[in-house]
Amino acid sequence: MATIANKIQEQHGRIEKACAAVGRPAQSVTLLVVSKTFPGSAVREAHAAGERRFGENYVQEGLDKIAELADLRAELEWHLIGPLQSNKTKPVAQHFDWVHSVDRLKIAQRLSEQRPPALPPLNICLQVNISGEASKSGVSAAELPDLAQAVAALPNLRLRGLMAVPEPAADFETQRQPHRALAALLEELRRQLKGQDLTLDTLSMGMSADLEAAIAEGANMVRVGSAIFGARTYPQAS
Ligand SMILES: *Cc1c(COP(=O)(O)O)cnc(C)c1O
Repeated sequence: MATIANKIQEQHGRIEKACAAVGRPAQSVTLLVVSKTFPGSAVREAHAAGERRFGENYVQEGLDKIAELADLRAELEWHLIGPLQSNKTKPVAQHFDWVHSVDRLKIAQRLSEQRPPALPPLNICLQVNISGEASKSGVSAAELPDLAQAVAALPNLRLRGLMAVPEPAADFETQRQPHRALAALLEELRRQLKGQDLTLDTLSMGMSADLEAAIAEGANMVRVGSAIFGARTYPQAS
């Protein structure tokens, strides 16, 4: 049985190889370890193997894990990557470091209002519905510019970039297409918001099955769960 540490090592190998294939430095890609449905002990193992960034999908499960691992809090960065309802924004603003799944202004406004003043601004990626109607979550490409403009203006948030969960596809070239589209949208946003004091440095795309395709198109944060921890065995409502 491969340990979590072995599996993590393997993912860094994949990242390195994917970067080398397109002439990018391996350090240009951050691994976000997606720990949803796995226990705090698994996060501890990943931490012991050197990982510091963890992604959670479900607000309550994430909060429970953050509390359980309070002794490591200063070393860890917690990212919410799953859908966020407006009645759950407050604890997210209080306890997470990043939210990748903002797709409505109302959610962003609440996160900004509820971010405790003692904490640094909450890092935000806007989730884009890059595969069109297939996915329920995410802002459309057409509505993205206005949302980005409005979110960028909120005081306690720091708009960092874009996130997407494309439709699964089996072959590499098909996998690349939505990633290429998201990268183009970030480029466009950078042009549009130029002159504002923003750091639009994050392209959060690529998961266990398609991180190579995402990296080929410029991903700099890949979100990997099952390739590290194995198949998720229980479904959970958010
Ligand atoms: C579950 C999930 C991941 C990780 O998916 P794997 O295929 O297990 O690597 C990444 N991003 C989001 C938004 C997820 O919900």
